[in-house]
Amino acid sequence: MTSDLKDAAMDARAPDTAWQADVRAGVRHVRDLAALPLSPAERAAAQEAAAAHKVRIPKAYLDLIDWNDPNDPIRAQVIPSPDELVATEGELDDPIGDHEFSPVPRLTHRHADRVLLFPTYQCAVYCRFCFRKESLTSIGRGYTREALEPALAYIAGHPEIREVILTGGDPLSLPDKALAEIRARIEALPHVRLLRIHTRVPVALPSRITAGLVATLQGRLLVTVVTHFNHPREITGEAETACRTMRQAGFVLLNQSVLLKGVNDNVEVLEELCRELMYRLGVKPYYLHHGDLARGMAHRRATIEEGQTLVAELRARLSGICNPTYVIDLPDGGGKVPLAASHIEGREGETWRIRGQDGVVRAYTEVATDL
Ligand code: SF4
Repeated sequence: MTSDLKDAAMDARAPDTAWQADVRAGVRHVRDLAALPLSPAERAAAQEAAAAHKVRIPKAYLDLIDWNDPNDPIRAQVIPSPDELVATEGELDDPIGDHEFSPVPRLTHRHADRVLLFPTYQCAVYCRFCFRKESLTSIGRGYTREALEPALAYIAGHPEIREVILTGGDPLSLPDKALAEIRARIEALPHVRLLRIHTRVPVALPSRITAGLVATLQGRLLVTVVTHFNHPREITGEAETACRTMRQAGFVLLNQSVLLKGVNDNVEVLEELCRELMYRLGVKPYYLHHGDLARGMAHRRATIEEGQTLVAELRARLSGICNPTYVIDLPDGGGKVPLAASHIEGREGETWRIRGQDGVVRAYTEVATDL
């Protein structure tokens, strides 16, 4: 059984739902790029770049693009660019070591208490900056029950696993029936406590977050949905409705953004993004990722120093609940490591010198006695 979102949307017998109409009316093939308001040179460049990494853009997300602005931040995230074809030394096929820590297909086990499970390598939208773009291109397959069996058997055999993270590909691009099956299989393993879902669907195809979809995910496990908003213009009325539906179902909502040059490497943009995520969507800004070493992404990667300057400024402007943690996912399975510039300037005995948010270094002497 192959059952990804495209197949579901393409099923001529099924009545069109809002999200299926969004998928159908968007960009689904390289040839669909011809219908976009691009100059002939831009169109040719986009079509050439799309040959290297898949293209798919739901209509709802396409409609957010300001076509009069060649540097539009929404456009930059989804319209293929010839810069993607320029591989730079040091970039990697598998930037965070997914394959190295994969004991069975469709599963990565890097940390003892949690695993990444890849039910599908297909997405509702293909982001040009994706750090798994090589896997999406080379593996590319959707969900089948059989393909997931070894991964589910592995989780069953490892009682130390408490969190299962559905990622991909985008797990919410699967039909409800497949999601219900996967949820039930994981839920049947008593040592698993939490189901986490990493998805860009609430951003690019928010109409897909239906009451039916949410109901398929409800059960014994606490569900945490980690969304992927990168720019405040992605926070629309539809996204708000989608997030409200998930919050009302009792899901915990977090967001991870990627720091992208020309998209959100600006303190005002990040400030507005984080505030609107928290105050309007009820989504806690969780991580701001330094751009991974995915091939062809040098043109979108900010430097670590630029990122540190931005997050220092954000920390001064935003409350703790609105502040994301700036992290880098180290190659070779080194995991996520915080990158914020340390506020610790030095130490003499029990006295630390700590830089405050106003930039002034103050002495802080520890006072602690034995029990
Ligand atoms: S939705 Fe996620 S996995 Fe899919 S292309 Fe975008 S970033 Fe990559």
